[in-house]
Amino acid sequence: MAPVLESKLPKVGTTIFSRMSALAQETGALNLSQGFPDFAPPAALSEALGEHARRGHNQYAPMAGLPRLREAIADQLHRFRGVKVDPDTEVTVVPGATEGIFCAITAAVRPRDEVILLDPVYDSYAPAIELAGAVAVHVPLEAGTFTVDWDRVRAAITPRTRMLMLNSPHNPCGSTVGRNDLDELASIAEDHDLLICSDEVYEHLVYDGLRHESVLAHPQLRPRSFVHYSFGKTYSVTGWKTGYCIAPPALTAELRKVHQYVAFVAVTPVQHALADFMAEEPDYPLTLAANYQARRDCFLNAIEGSGFAWTKASGSFFQLLDYSALSDEEDYILCERWTREFGVAAIPISLFYADPPAQKILRFCFAKAHDTLLEAGRRLCTI
Ligand code: PMP
Ligand code: GLN
Repeated sequence: MAPVLESKLPKVGTTIFSRMSALAQETGALNLSQGFPDFAPPAALSEALGEHARRGHNQYAPMAGLPRLREAIADQLHRFRGVKVDPDTEVTVVPGATEGIFCAITAAVRPRDEVILLDPVYDSYAPAIELAGAVAVHVPLEAGTFTVDWDRVRAAITPRTRMLMLNSPHNPCGSTVGRNDLDELASIAEDHDLLICSDEVYEHLVYDGLRHESVLAHPQLRPRSFVHYSFGKTYSVTGWKTGYCIAPPALTAELRKVHQYVAFVAVTPVQHALADFMAEEPDYPLTLAANYQARRDCFLNAIEGSGFAWTKASGSFFQLLDYSALSDEEDYILCERWTREFGVAAIPISLFYADPPAQKILRFCFAKAHDTLLEAGRRLCTI
């Protein structure tokens, strides 16, 4: 008889992103569920990838990432965030922010430590915490505004609290934190000697004249933070699964010890292609906010007059829509039904809470072609 494997993640199934994308494909629905662009990346970037593969850049890169890519990353952080990072000791290229986040948690968190999560929370964090033998402590964001109640965070801290996970711009809420939030966080982190794991994968997607507040640019937070980015979001190549983590040298050294045995390296020709493109078009990220804001507005204009209610997303790929005027159904049941009946797939946000509040909200991804957004809007107006 084969041994029975007792699950280390008994409550985890296939992610809602995979399930909703599969349902959209099966039913032919417009896929506004999983967060990925349905348009092409910059042509020069795809061409560079092919070129590097043809030129023979197909073997392992250095474990921490190609030096030229790490230098390009450091240049960009200086350009866009005004911070200096050392490409040798503070930048690690990883095969996707998901891996970087997993490695940071694994490196920093010990059995029975507590890690604070702000619900609704991106789905990869809690399993990584559990696998480390630690405990995820869920603090909900404020209902309606999705802002952080820092008094609630303070009240959740115990002598075992080791780390807090922050995500801005936020998935799934599309909200962003302000400088005052970072100040509050810094004061809590200093009082309790916490580490911060800051997920900033949507850093360039901030709208309506707001600016991204990076933990890296906060002098009290920077020395205690792992900060994660994803080339997938910035260059519309989510399938290339390449990102990077910035952390002070001592934290980076520990992260790399884990990274070298989880993945060892990120994909070599992809790293070359990104380094080329960043050198050729250093200002490309500055084009993104207006581009995505126009997509958000296209989608919202298209559902003007529908039964949905919303507050405009201030960042990310995602717009939340409140459907309480249209249905009493649970969001995860409704999402499936509407995908089949109206041909638009979305993501139920109750699944991102430990204890879902009584709200009726779905997440729609607007990283899509204008035609897709217009047609999705037309269909949503018929509900
Ligand atoms: N964090 C958040 C908030 C995300 O939305 C995503 C996107 N999938 C990731 C991390 C993971 O990024 P990557 O695809 O680079 O692993
Ligand atoms: N982060 C993407 C989203 O929020 C999906 C990534 C994934 O499928 N794991 O939709």
